[in-house]
Amino acid sequence: MNNAIRLFAITVAVMIGASAPLGAAEKHSKDECSGTIRKGEMTCEEAVGYFLNVVDPALRRAVQDPRTPAGISNRLRSLYRELVKNETFIQPLSHYIDYGQASHRLAFRAFDETGSKTVIVISMPQIRDDLAKNESFDFAAAIVVAHERGHQEEQGLTAPEDLPKFEAVVSAITVKEMIRPLLGQVALPKFLTQLSEKFAEFGDNPQDPRWVELFSPKVAGKEIASAK
Ligand SMILES: [Zn+2]
Repeated sequence: MNNAIRLFAITVAVMIGASAPLGAAEKHSKDECSGTIRKGEMTCEEAVGYFLNVVDPALRRAVQDPRTPAGISNRLRSLYRELVKNETFIQPLSHYIDYGQASHRLAFRAFDETGSKTVIVISMPQIRDDLAKNESFDFAAAIVVAHERGHQEEQGLTAPEDLPKFEAVVSAITVKEMIRPLLGQVALPKFLTQLSEKFAEFGDNPQDPRWVELFSPKVAGKEIASAK
């Protein structure tokens, strides 16, 4: 194990239990890792293990794969540089993210206790359920994480009422820079190809109200759940 990975493992361990509020849609409680384990969920140790043994290697393979678009690999590389310096954190969640609360359920971006550093929170049971069996797991996992990284690039849309617009902008970037360059090369999970189709349907316009509406809390849970 090289130094970077060891540091990374420490970072992951430290972040378990970190608090990360960002409006109603990205609420995050300190107690989440000590709560009841529902069906299919993991212990905290299992979630960290799943991240280190399954997700992290997939992300690293994706970065090395020549098919991976720059829109993904550049974001993951810069993320890894910040992870080893503790400037950004990844928190592997042991439980599911409730649909009604977040506009997407695999992961979300939050903040650490200082409110200044990003925490990318990723549900390990959800990744396992939705992506792990997919033949393009490496790419799908990389898109999920690079999408959250994309949230760090867009400033000024972080008020709770702006969340659908914020999601619409970042999802447009995700479609254009991450999903579409891979179409025809790898078989991505349906919910990602459907996102691309929807965007095309709305003229590739991130401001189209029908596109923005997809990310409103009342619609997003249903849409994304049914697009599985
Ligand atoms: Zn997002």
